[in-house]
Amino acid sequence: MRGAGDGRGLVSHSRYQPMADQKPSLVRGMFTGAIHDELLFPYPATLDDRDPAEARVVSRLLREIRRMPGELFDSAELDESETIPEPVIRAFGELGLLGLTIPREYGGLGLSATAYARVFATLSTVDASLAVLVGVHCGLGSKAIVLFGTPEQKTRYLPQLARGSVLAAYALTEPDVGSDAQNVKATATLADDGTHWVLEGRKIWIGNGHCAGVIATFAQTTIERRGERTTRPTAFLVRPDMPGFRVVGTVRKLGIRGSTQAELSYEHLVVPSDHVLGHVGKGFGVAVHVLNAGRLTLAAGCTGGSKALLDHMTRYAKQRVQFGHSLADYEITQRKFAQLAADAYAADSMTGALAALVDRADSDSALEAACTKVFTSELLWRAADEMVQVAGGRGFVKPYPYERHLRDARINRIFEGANEILRLFIALNGIQGPAAHLREVGTALRRPLRNLGLVSGFMTARVASRLGATSRVEAVVHERLAEHVRYFEKHVAELKAETERAVIKHRRAIAERQLVLERLADMAIDLYATVVTIARTQRLIESRGAAACEREIDLCDLLCVTAGRRFRSNRVALSGREDQVDHTRQRIAGAVRAADGYFVDDAILDE
Ligand SMILES: Cc1cc2nc3c(=O)[nH]c(=O)nc-3n(C[C@H](O)[C@H](O)[C@H](O)COP(=O)(O)OP(=O)(O)OC[C@H]3O[C@@H](n4cnc5c(N)ncnc54)[C@H](O)[C@@H]3O)c2cc1C
Repeated sequence: MRGAGDGRGLVSHSRYQPMADQKPSLVRGMFTGAIHDELLFPYPATLDDRDPAEARVVSRLLREIRRMPGELFDSAELDESETIPEPVIRAFGELGLLGLTIPREYGGLGLSATAYARVFATLSTVDASLAVLVGVHCGLGSKAIVLFGTPEQKTRYLPQLARGSVLAAYALTEPDVGSDAQNVKATATLADDGTHWVLEGRKIWIGNGHCAGVIATFAQTTIERRGERTTRPTAFLVRPDMPGFRVVGTVRKLGIRGSTQAELSYEHLVVPSDHVLGHVGKGFGVAVHVLNAGRLTLAAGCTGGSKALLDHMTRYAKQRVQFGHSLADYEITQRKFAQLAADAYAADSMTGALAALVDRADSDSALEAACTKVFTSELLWRAADEMVQVAGGRGFVKPYPYERHLRDARINRIFEGANEILRLFIALNGIQGPAAHLREVGTALRRPLRNLGLVSGFMTARVASRLGATSRVEAVVHERLAEHVRYFEKHVAELKAETERAVIKHRRAIAERQLVLERLADMAIDLYATVVTIARTQRLIESRGAAACEREIDLCDLLCVTAGRRFRSNRVALSGREDQVDHTRQRIAGAVRAADGYFVDDAILDE
């Protein structure tokens, strides 16, 4: 074993420090036993209190959105026809729904992150495909220009994007590059006279790509670094009328069928030099930053969708009679109602907290965004699955909408950072603080963090200083929540202990011990869900009094108990009791790989 003084150097944080080093994070702190509860307590006030004028705009938009189904579109038809008709997109533009994130000076509504998340949540409940169209346009394509565009690029593109006369897209994924997005294969070469770049490459599954008027895209460029030539991604704005741009075709899909994803080809694509987005060689930062913002949108959509599915489930179960009673009378159905309600309450609380963090911009919310994305996307999938189960055969067949809801829900665990990758991201970032004093571990962490594709890069900041953070929740909470807070504090201490134990036990290999990392991430996600739910409930108690919050306190109780159980099961696994099982898993996986799949003789026929 190498000692701490082997001279290999600590994790080099300096290259990423400026973007995140000074900002605290509640989730990152928990891995070191620190509780930055000042970032969460008091839980943010509602938009109506914070900004009544903006709340009125949001309420108007929600009314318009809720009127649309049946009047402007029919979701079953969008799904069947696998398209969103032009008049729908036009109507969205006229209502301002395509300019939600674009500043007012460019003709958009300039909504805060909180307001945008709220609108998006409702949009997702009326149609998931339309939500994807808007999410790609507002949350990714336009957002890239808002965040990184030059004044000229903004003046040129944002007004048309805000009106909806032009749609935006965001093209990162390639046939050989998905999660590992730092390694895009598309290339960009600057012309000798410096007037333009020439792009070569392919992008796949690009939302709105078949019809977008402007596309934020990424390609490798050669740059000088410490006197040596190397390659780094650069972001560009491309348009379909640029010579060399071609839409190869569109794909058919399991869900969100109304939305369209296209394959794009850049064959000697000529892009004027003033269409670089951000700085040459800094495209990865652009990609990460935009996708981080996108995770809030996705979480809001999943939360809205989960709440709507619980509404569907309740209505269905109340009217469906079997064995002389409605399904809602049975305990098993009631367990489903209760768990989904408690989880939706947590998801809603996490989304609201994340939106406020993004608006405040005084903390690093990347880990909170990752936790919220994983929690909400997995909740939506469970909710859709349980809805199908409660509806029985009607859950599986058309014209009932439940099979479509299930299909539509599935993509959220895959795009905008697959959940496996986000779990690795949460854990690898979390263990950096405890690992920092073990030089060899720090060095080993550098590689997986850098290679974690979309979610790494500027997130590899040194863990925030423990100054100002304690291992206790300093905020005063109501006595009804006090026990949950005590457990939370105990569990944070346990997360710290398990993190340190894992780092010391696995040392350099920790970066490859994905099952350990996955458990640490799951513990952090459950802890974060717990504390956010407590903070929200405390806020409600303060504003209405405990007697008026009995139902919310019940939701909080159930969430804390179930999340606590999962936490303990992961902690027990990490404490060594699962080691043997993990070894068995590894041996079986080895046998599966060697046999190219299932390897046992057939139980019935000896072929
Ligand atoms: C409907 C749809 C819309 C999309 N829209 C867009 C868009 O508008 N713009 C755009 O640029 N892209 C878009 N994408 C692409 C999407 O972002 C990618 O599919 C996603 O990033 C995952 O990449 P991949 O599909 O290549 O999966 P892969 O990266 O091949 O991953 C496959 C699986 O392996 C897991 N995995 C990968 N690496 C590891 C590891 N190191 N350890 C353990 N597990 C790992 C992943 O978690 C995942 O479960 C879209 C995709 C779809 C299907």
